[in-house]
Amino acid sequence: MIPRLKDVSPVQSHYLAFIDALRKTGFEGELNPDYANRTVLATDNSIYQVLPQAVIYPRHREDLQRLTRLISQPDWHSIVISPRGGGTGTNGQSLTDGIVVDLSRHMNRILEINAEEGWVRVEGGAVKDQLNAALKPHGLFFAPELSTSNRATIGGMINTDASGQGSVMYGKTRDHVLNLSTVLLDGTLLETGALDETRLAEAKAQPGLTGRVHQTVDDIHQRRQQDIEARFPKLNRCLTGYDLAHIRDDQGQFNLNNILCGSEGTLGFIVEARLNVLSIPKVSALVNVRYDSFETSLRDAQTLMQARPTSIETVDSRVLELAKGDIVWNTVAEYFPSAEGEIVNGINLVEFTADDDATLEAGVKRLTDSLDALQGQPGKCNGYSVAWGNKAVNQIWGMRKKSVGLLGNAQGEARPVPFVEDTAVPPENLADFIMAFRKVLDDEGLTYGMFGHVDAGVLHVRPALDMKDPEQVKTVRRVTDAVVELVQQYGGLLWGEHGKGVRSEFAPAFFGDLYPELQAIKRAFDPHNQLNPGKIATTAPELKLLAIDAVTLRGDYDRTIPVESWSYQSEAMYCNGNGACYNYDPNDAMCPSWKGTRERKHSPKGRASLVREWTRLLGEQGQNTQSLAAAEARRMPLLHWIPRAWNTWRRERGDYDFSNEVYESMSGCLACKSCTGQCPIKVDVPEFRAKFLHLYYGRYLRPLKDYFIGTLEFVIPWLAKRPFKWVYNGLLAAKPVQWFLEHVAGMVDSPRIHRHQLGSLMHKLGIDWAEADILQGLPAAERERSVVIVQDAFSSFFDTDTVADILRCLQQLGFRVWVLPYRANGKPLHVHGFLKTFTWVAKRRQRDFAELEKSGIPLVGIDPSMTLAYRSEYKKYLEGDVTPVLLLQEFLGQRLSQLESLQSRFKPGTVKLLGHCTEKTNAAASMKDWQSVFSALGLTLEHEAVGCCGMAGTYGHETRNKGTSATIYDLSWRPLLENQPAEQWVATGYSCRSQAQRQQGVTLKHPLQYLADRFTG
Ligand SMILES: Cc1cc2nc3c(=O)[nH]c(=O)nc-3n(C[C@H](O)[C@H](O)[C@H](O)COP(=O)(O)OP(=O)(O)OC[C@H]3O[C@@H](n4cnc5c(N)ncnc54)[C@H](O)[C@@H]3O)c2cc1C
Ligand code: SF4
Ligand code: SF4
Repeated sequence: MIPRLKDVSPVQSHYLAFIDALRKTGFEGELNPDYANRTVLATDNSIYQVLPQAVIYPRHREDLQRLTRLISQPDWHSIVISPRGGGTGTNGQSLTDGIVVDLSRHMNRILEINAEEGWVRVEGGAVKDQLNAALKPHGLFFAPELSTSNRATIGGMINTDASGQGSVMYGKTRDHVLNLSTVLLDGTLLETGALDETRLAEAKAQPGLTGRVHQTVDDIHQRRQQDIEARFPKLNRCLTGYDLAHIRDDQGQFNLNNILCGSEGTLGFIVEARLNVLSIPKVSALVNVRYDSFETSLRDAQTLMQARPTSIETVDSRVLELAKGDIVWNTVAEYFPSAEGEIVNGINLVEFTADDDATLEAGVKRLTDSLDALQGQPGKCNGYSVAWGNKAVNQIWGMRKKSVGLLGNAQGEARPVPFVEDTAVPPENLADFIMAFRKVLDDEGLTYGMFGHVDAGVLHVRPALDMKDPEQVKTVRRVTDAVVELVQQYGGLLWGEHGKGVRSEFAPAFFGDLYPELQAIKRAFDPHNQLNPGKIATTAPELKLLAIDAVTLRGDYDRTIPVESWSYQSEAMYCNGNGACYNYDPNDAMCPSWKGTRERKHSPKGRASLVREWTRLLGEQGQNTQSLAAAEARRMPLLHWIPRAWNTWRRERGDYDFSNEVYESMSGCLACKSCTGQCPIKVDVPEFRAKFLHLYYGRYLRPLKDYFIGTLEFVIPWLAKRPFKWVYNGLLAAKPVQWFLEHVAGMVDSPRIHRHQLGSLMHKLGIDWAEADILQGLPAAERERSVVIVQDAFSSFFDTDTVADILRCLQQLGFRVWVLPYRANGKPLHVHGFLKTFTWVAKRRQRDFAELEKSGIPLVGIDPSMTLAYRSEYKKYLEGDVTPVLLLQEFLGQRLSQLESLQSRFKPGTVKLLGHCTEKTNAAASMKDWQSVFSALGLTLEHEAVGCCGMAGTYGHETRNKGTSATIYDLSWRPLLENQPAEQWVATGYSCRSQAQRQQGVTLKHPLQYLADRFTG
């Protein structure tokens, strides 16, 4: 049994007192000193892990003013705080051992769009893609681009002065900031923007911090203008944090925005920004140029620039190979053909944008003419493809963005880590610089993938290191020092894109005698060094900045996790915190529990962080999860009822156990598997969650609902028999039973058993049960046209008519259909951590399949999620081969010519597909397969981007999830289906169809039901 984990790092008493005092000021947001929140917010995407004392989520700017007014009082000068947005920093930018102040949860609204004047007002916690989605209907966009655009916040972008692809054309975030509203440390709201001399004089005369910061910065500008001019490099990626070179803007006006941009949360809280927005270019194209070496692609980029493109990005072969192995490749493969024997080691992605086709075509022609003329010559390209249109271009950029994350998905213990990943040099020096950089890495024997914004001279690289190994950790210092020297030699910067964070260490050397001026600015804004201290500049000469090897590393924690636990729960261990699972997009499958709660602990990253810490704490008590799980599997749960009941009683009495905090996070997971498919590192929450529950329930009693859900697949065939069915359905309709189920058993809106029996419907269709010996005895031709349908409990017993329609459609398509007698699949057992029983069920089911497989007739499942369990969960728990069970569209997709021959027998029509999250994210081709099937029959099926429906098997039927399930539905499905005719949609998942019915009263059909209705005979 897992021991109780009662000893976690305690919150320091003066922080607890501060939080108490803050609560008394009327602070309306959440104040979380719990260990789960602290653990989840202890990491970003860097190599560091710093445990905060608390995490707080301000509800509005008044909360921040309450916080800052309190903290500036002498009693609280020892309290330190750090603002946080998406937490995607790569160098510990938002990490603190004080209080994390996360603005992304509540302060994330888009306040005003002025399309006529081309600006927008947003709160600091709004996400960049969220802003662009709101601007799109106006034909506008916020131009600075970054790979993390679906989760990085505007506040984070301003504070790191973010930029990325397209920066040569569009500049950095700073270039688009018009006005900022910043809460200063004394609670003042500072409004900044370009000031003429009169307004500057007025600002300097203001009392308090406002006057002081204006005086200080203006004084620096007046005294040090020439030194600044001499010291700051003339790069597209100009130096921020603090950008002394732009105290006065290009028009000569004083502008504090330029100091705040890139200040990394060290000067104040950006609560609101007025931003300049641009018209979306109407048309775009991307020329994808292939090279046999990365060096050639880098050197050729300078020539490509002569065609005056919007941007040029380079990726190396490693990045390309990683993309090829990911679900994302499906959308872009056609643009990267390679001829027989062609070696592709570098690609330049050259983008052209314009407002009309003629200008666009002329731009592309400028480039392709020169490529055609030189193709195949030494130092030139092998070939190219052109992707025309915004959709194709965005798909390729999507692949490029994702490949940044994919770089982290190396196998083995050495994983790519960021520490020298965003150097910038003048573009003309880039190729030479990269060759020298590669030598540093090669001499260390490191592996790495590279890509970069070649037009801006920015290189991205993450060398692979096992940060658990103290020897390899030393490489960070050696390589960083060598790269610092190189950037100086080539006239560039170590911090070309992602900001400084703990790399602020190198600031004093870089700024030289200007560094004290940075300290003066810091002192003016933050007299007591309380805001994200140790980054950018300290307030006094004797105070030291953080250093790259003087901050706790995540590896320091990971190293203490027992190796057995590390490998047993490997699905959680390699999360690198890149935050792709914080995707804001409601129409994307990842991650419904995070979107429904906006709590970071209810995200894949949150859950992975908690399980890592949990295994570490167990390790401190001499326990490893692998042995604990094996022991648990040997135990008879009933015999251990008494100790579990005792522990449960003590839990209810309030005895602290960190396992309960982990449990709270795990039980919010829908087990939709979107993380399993979409996380670039393939973090698999349902798997490590099942393992956690298996152990957790060895210590505590399970809730009653788990037994209902776990046994449902076994009892349902009996309940579905007459007269039990009528009794069961009758009971479910009775109010007292509903009350009992909801309040005692923990289940709501349990579905009724269908009035029809599948057996009778099959009989009407002339369909027989599949038996291995009968199938094996069929003549070859008969076997060739046969298919065996593998039933699942949800479809067969609750949605029986749909199953019959599917069988009918398969007959219409010319197949001889057989149905495998029902047996439990076991997925609900896996979801709830009944791993011992699940393994038994899976073995039993696989034995059936193995017999059937001998006939060579394909096995096909109906519900996507249940069907995919045969190839994922089964594979993990069974030894040897697992029989393939296909999705309907996979089976039909392999028989397109047969379908084409039936085209004339189906009425044409167009319908939109609402795919199930598990199939969309775990079976890469599944949506395209449906489209091919429909198109072979002369019909059109459009894939609709939609998020999770909030049901996910039984999640939506659990009382504790009732509210979140509805919230998730409202995020994406409800607005899509609102006031739309139900006939225009089809949905593959039983859960999705039943949730649409339950939440909105909409009856959706399965794609094959739709086809069956269009059959003309
Ligand atoms: C895989 C990957 C790819 C990346 N690609 C790019 C890229 O292409 N271009 C690029 O520029 N960066 C990139 N980054 C770095 C990172 O995404 C950016 O720095 C981003 O701007 C950070 O935004 P955030 O909301 O996550 O901020 P956080 O990481 O939460 O915070 C960043 C800094 O801003 C401060 N801060 C945040 N919000 C506020 C606020 N409201 N007020 C005051 N201070 C605040 C924090 O204290 C911290 O110092 C990448 C990171 C990853 C993991
Ligand atoms: S779970 Fe995956 S997507 Fe989320 S932060 Fe970890 S590695 Fe990134
Ligand atoms: S399974 Fe779904 S709900 Fe659970 S963590 Fe993964 S994406 Fe989120």
